[in-house]
Amino acid sequence: MQQFDVIVIGAGPAGYVCAIRCAQLGFQVACIDKWVNAKGKPTLGGTCLNVGCIPSKALLDSTHHVHFLREQAAQHGLKISGLEVDIPTMQKRKDKVVQILTRGVASLLKKNKVEVFAGSARLGGEQRVHVDQHDGSTVEMQGRHIVIASGSQPTSIPDVGIDNENILDSTGALGLQEAPERLGIIGAGVIGLEMGSVWQRLGSEVIILEALPDFLPAADQTVSKEAMKLLAKQGLDIRMNCRVQEVQASTGKVSVTYHLNGAEQRLEVNKLIVAVGRMANTEGLGLDGVHVATDQKGFIKVDAHWRTSSEGIYAIGDVAGGAMLAHKGSEEGMALAEHLADQYAHVNYDAIPWVIYTWPEIAWVGQTEQQCKASGISYRTGEFPFRALGRAHAMDDTAGLFKIVCDKESDRILGAHILGPSASELICEAVVAIESELCAEDLARMVHAHPSLAEGMHEAALAADQRAIHF
Ligand code: FAD
Ligand code: NAD
Repeated sequence: MQQFDVIVIGAGPAGYVCAIRCAQLGFQVACIDKWVNAKGKPTLGGTCLNVGCIPSKALLDSTHHVHFLREQAAQHGLKISGLEVDIPTMQKRKDKVVQILTRGVASLLKKNKVEVFAGSARLGGEQRVHVDQHDGSTVEMQGRHIVIASGSQPTSIPDVGIDNENILDSTGALGLQEAPERLGIIGAGVIGLEMGSVWQRLGSEVIILEALPDFLPAADQTVSKEAMKLLAKQGLDIRMNCRVQEVQASTGKVSVTYHLNGAEQRLEVNKLIVAVGRMANTEGLGLDGVHVATDQKGFIKVDAHWRTSSEGIYAIGDVAGGAMLAHKGSEEGMALAEHLADQYAHVNYDAIPWVIYTWPEIAWVGQTEQQCKASGISYRTGEFPFRALGRAHAMDDTAGLFKIVCDKESDRILGAHILGPSASELICEAVVAIESELCAEDLARMVHAHPSLAEGMHEAALAADQRAIHF
């Protein structure tokens, strides 16, 4: 039986980062992953690299160029005729990006002397892990510490079967070789909006059915209301308060019956994407046999140091619940490695940024205004629109706003919310501010380069004290 200090199950952003950090700290590490790509080859990087963050952003970037060429190029004096969009080539580029990055993970693990096993892991007693390798052989190993980083997978709604032909999950939605004429999406969450944007930019008429009455309830309402308007203007038909009753599919045609404000409605589309959330990957891991407890939704229960109910077994990333974000899993992976090495380990869950890669992008960190209100915190806000920024005009990208929420008495920044171009990059400043417990006044006194989009954060901080200069 092979012996390791740490056995990591899963090589997604939580697992592979944990494995590398453990190796850096001097542990002997094994990392097991069962993923095989479309060509049947074992591949690392998990959901994020293979069918999540990376391929979706590759398509969002490609289609953003399409949007620019069609809608904005003329204003820049660029006259384009005969523009052809070749979706199979776009998909090949996306696949190439995935290949480069998944190979990168393999070489990082190798460089750090992590032993990688391609196959399915199952927990046994006494810190043992059994691996059914893809080559047909089996391996038994024992680890002082076992880390479960087995991630998550798409879920569906009752009686709606995903066939990835007519009814697609997020993986199917990333792989289409042509734009459906009419595309239905169930769920106006992160995946619904990102995939909806991709296919709308490629010519599909996109109709999104959302069960909740409020659009993006986790975002600050000032931002979510404005985002809804901008996305609708682009052509996304987002219908709130919809209760899906029945879905029927035949080749090239999907019929969705739903209730809207008590009235039955029918939607006929060519393809339907189901994007209603994700569930923990725990099946086949043998959790019961080793007394690892899960919560009501199936996520592994962990304490503040990612310990499960079974001593010596830990869980991180999507499978451990909380925000299903790659960077949250990676931070947990690093912190857990440091905890195992008896170092100080901490993840500040109050400073995890969220980004939705629509255009404009939507990003936030910390508390929303409605959360402050609900918890009785006395707060002030400062807002600043992109249309008041010189750089945004130079770019011809003026939609959106910055919003800072800070404590009324102490002025400490509690949250920051951005709807606008490059919000994914701009939010980093707010993460630093919240992590460093800065006040709005601190940001207001920091010199921001001109002309830059980041000046909007500066002005929002000034606006929190009602002294914005340019608006
Ligand atoms: P995963 O990435 O799911 O990795 C788990 C790994 O464990 C897998 O490789 C799996 O094969 C392996 N595994 C499972 N069970 C076993 C077993 N028994 N034996 C061996 N191996 C096993 N997040 C962001 O932060 N930003 C984004 O832009 C973003 N975009 C996304 C877009 C889409 C379309 C989707 C679907 C998700 C997106 N996410 C994004 C979410 C992100 O992908 C996940 O939060 C992240 O991948 C979770 O990392 P993880 O390591 O916990 O799990
Ligand atoms: P989500 O939780 O973001 O959104 C699901 C949406 O579906 C919700 O608005 C929910 O109210 C709605 N819904 C649920 N059941 C419904 C029903 N029966 N009818 C109509 N609507 C229904 O989930 P997702 O979009 O599937 O994404 C899963 C997770 O993946 C996200 O929570 C996120 O953590 C991660 N992700 C992140 C990014 C990113 O960071 N940019 C991108 C994609 C995915």
